[in-house]
Amino acid sequence: MLGAGLSGLLMGIRLKKAGIRDFTIYEKADSVGGTWRDNRYPGLTCDVPSRLYCYSFFPHGAWSRFLPPGEEVLRYLRAAADRFGIRAHIKFNTEVVSLRWGNGRWSLRSDRGDEGDFHFVVAATGFLHHPARLGLAGLQSFKGAVVSPSRWPPSIELGGRRVGVVGTGSSGTQIASAVAEQAGQLTVFCRSPQWVFPLPNWELSRLNRGLMGRFPALSKAAHFMYRYLLDALFGKATTHPGWQRALVTALCRAHLRGIRDPLLRQQLTPKDVPMCKRLVFSNEFYRAIQRSNVSVIRRPIDRVYRSGIEAGGVQYRLDVLVLATGFDSHTFMSRIHITGQDGRDLRDVWAGFPLNYRTMAVPGFPNLFMIIGPNSPFGHVSVPSIAETQTAYIMQLIGMFTRGLFTSAGPTEEAAREFQSSLDEAMPRTAWAAGCSSWYRNEAGYINTYPWSGSHFRNLLATVNCQHFTFE
Ligand code: NAP
Repeated sequence: MLGAGLSGLLMGIRLKKAGIRDFTIYEKADSVGGTWRDNRYPGLTCDVPSRLYCYSFFPHGAWSRFLPPGEEVLRYLRAAADRFGIRAHIKFNTEVVSLRWGNGRWSLRSDRGDEGDFHFVVAATGFLHHPARLGLAGLQSFKGAVVSPSRWPPSIELGGRRVGVVGTGSSGTQIASAVAEQAGQLTVFCRSPQWVFPLPNWELSRLNRGLMGRFPALSKAAHFMYRYLLDALFGKATTHPGWQRALVTALCRAHLRGIRDPLLRQQLTPKDVPMCKRLVFSNEFYRAIQRSNVSVIRRPIDRVYRSGIEAGGVQYRLDVLVLATGFDSHTFMSRIHITGQDGRDLRDVWAGFPLNYRTMAVPGFPNLFMIIGPNSPFGHVSVPSIAETQTAYIMQLIGMFTRGLFTSAGPTEEAAREFQSSLDEAMPRTAWAAGCSSWYRNEAGYINTYPWSGSHFRNLLATVNCQHFTFE
């Protein structure tokens, strides 16, 4: 298994629950937690309700807020790794660099020279952690501190300093909202404003925490209630034109009207429709950017220079430069050199778009499965929910293997192409296809998410359709 983040840990837990102990998780870092280990920036908050952002079978009563702070999510994942005894299976500081299929096995090699043969490989490698190529001229010449959300120095002092934040996606808005209170002067460089959905983040009362801790069934009920509500509102709104889309749009517009200065309001009005880019969820951002020590710059950045940023011919002096400029979200596991049947190289197969069968497998690469891979519903379904559906599906196949029903299983080319055609047919109805640029689209314009609801996804992966696989 590759990766000890939320999805990789979950896969390990599923295996252990099924009595399978012969597995190894390769993790390139020195601890568990994935994105929640890497991101430590001020204001880091998961924008999915805490009762939903956990494994359904391992509820957590003690979340402090409606939306969990990042450090609580990390603590939760560490607790899950301990509770289910997963750490003993993890090889830390070990990055897998190649996988080669042959003789019914995957031969794995790591950057430390480890080698191993495995019947199955599950890639839980995530996709929002390799920084996007930036192309900011002159960045090297900047003499102050340059930081990014996933490389936030624990000791950096922002009090009274001039801080510049480039990027106003989910990360940039959370950082700007938190830093505005500390910095002497905050300058937010906003190339394209995003729609901000107003979502308050209230503290959970002691009574609530006590009850949820004492009665896990209540926590589980809340988990499934939020899953249903998110699907019914945001899932529908994103994937279908209808009243849900109109409602989300109206709420974003009403929220925007909370910016008092008409010029600033106009500057922060997105050109695209809500949900084309991923919604930002925040009740803080508009308040933060209206503070007297905060300015928003809509001029395009010309270059970074020794003492700051030049945008539209104006120089903005900075002591700290925060690059919240997003991720390369389209490579998934193809950073690893993966060679499948008949010497097929995954990078060649995925040139243009990531052909896959129902988000989880690739023809020509048997016994290799992905969690949160291409076309997973990561635009509108919570990551734990997606991972639970996908790991349950993989466990069905592993169960068939352990019963001796096959030695290798891979999706047929025909089944993958059929899935692809259905994606292509449904995608134009979605908000993502409304004509903006976003991290959902690759350079060729291919939209890499799932154009149906969460319940559609769960139904699609409820059982293995054996006719779609070639078994040996
Ligand atoms: P993002 O949504 O891709 O935003 C990147 C921002 O940087 C955009 O505003 C982009 O502008 C700007 N940018 C990029 N290059 C630039 C340049 N050269 N000059 C000026 N501006 C530039 O990335 P993100 O904020 O890291 O969020 C990515 C995803 O991570 C989110 O959508 C979300 O799914 C996830 N996330 C989740 C949470 C959570 O709470 N669960 C928190 C953070 C992130 P353009 O729009 O013009 O390209």
